[in-house]
Amino acid sequence: MIQTNSTVKRVAIIANHKFQSKKIANKLFTTLREDERFYLTKKSPDIVITIGGDGVLLSAFHTYENELDHVRFVGIHTGHLGFYTDYLEHQVDELITTLREDTGEKISYPVLQVSIALADGRRIRGLALNESTIKRIEKTMVADVLVHNVKLERFRGDGLLVATPTGSTAYNKSLGGAVLHPTIEALQLTEIASINNRVYRSIGSSMIVPKKDHIEVYPKKTGRYIVSVDNKTYTYKDIVKIEYQISPQKVHFVSTPWHTSFWQRVKDAFLGDLDR
Ligand code: NAP
Ligand code: MN
Repeated sequence: MIQTNSTVKRVAIIANHKFQSKKIANKLFTTLREDERFYLTKKSPDIVITIGGDGVLLSAFHTYENELDHVRFVGIHTGHLGFYTDYLEHQVDELITTLREDTGEKISYPVLQVSIALADGRRIRGLALNESTIKRIEKTMVADVLVHNVKLERFRGDGLLVATPTGSTAYNKSLGGAVLHPTIEALQLTEIASINNRVYRSIGSSMIVPKKDHIEVYPKKTGRYIVSVDNKTYTYKDIVKIEYQISPQKVHFVSTPWHTSFWQRVKDAFLGDLDR
């Protein structure tokens, strides 16, 4: 039986393998276990605390991707400040205070829904917190790209990436994509090494696609493709179509007084204090 007493919060603690993360996990575990307002369990939690980096939060997201409606995440970063983590390792006490005073407030961000249609009739669905990519394994990927039913281009190159707003600072940024504020409900379509010359042409720049528009990619060649969804990769033969849209579901985070401004995170992560 799942405990449904609404005053008791079900809390899961997930840490990576770093010594420092395990130490923090132990401290949280002993403190929250002795507090009757919390019930520590990995089963159907209300709050998931991740300890490590953004990578741990990504894994935790996928562990609970079928329960996004009732889960709120909160992260401690053992290292520099991450994009999905509000607390640093010396702020465990502040996190405990936040949890004790928590009234259920949340901050929500869009997630990406990916739907893959294979030639054998199978249809595979996935949810991404950061992004999804498609690449052809053997040769150049050739694919028709449609945005909101408009056939935009025939793409040639290594592949394509579709990022969420919060994923815009990850792989998307490495490819030259734009950094998007997470309150903007849009997807970003970014090319991976497109071939552009007198014969072949694609847009070249990243495109920000609004919530109401979906993106379709029709690979024109048979063969094997690698599809990534955040930190996971899958190999498929003969993809007919891959479709991207903002999911009707969102990912929720515990609203914390330590929630750092997005622009401050961008500065801390990529620029540092250059203006000394
Ligand atoms: P990883 O290879 O350990 O992590 C790649 C780096 O991306 C880590 O420094 C991670 O931060 C950071 N990161 C993750 N999400 C981010 C976000 N939303 N904004 C800014 N930085 C972010 O693999 P992982 O930890 O399992 O993460 C998987 C992610 O790696 C994928 O979703 C993809 O975005 C990214 N990736 C990037 C490239 C590239 O830039 N060329 C290639 C493949 C994959 P932490 O150290 O805090 O974990
Ligand atoms: Mn990582």
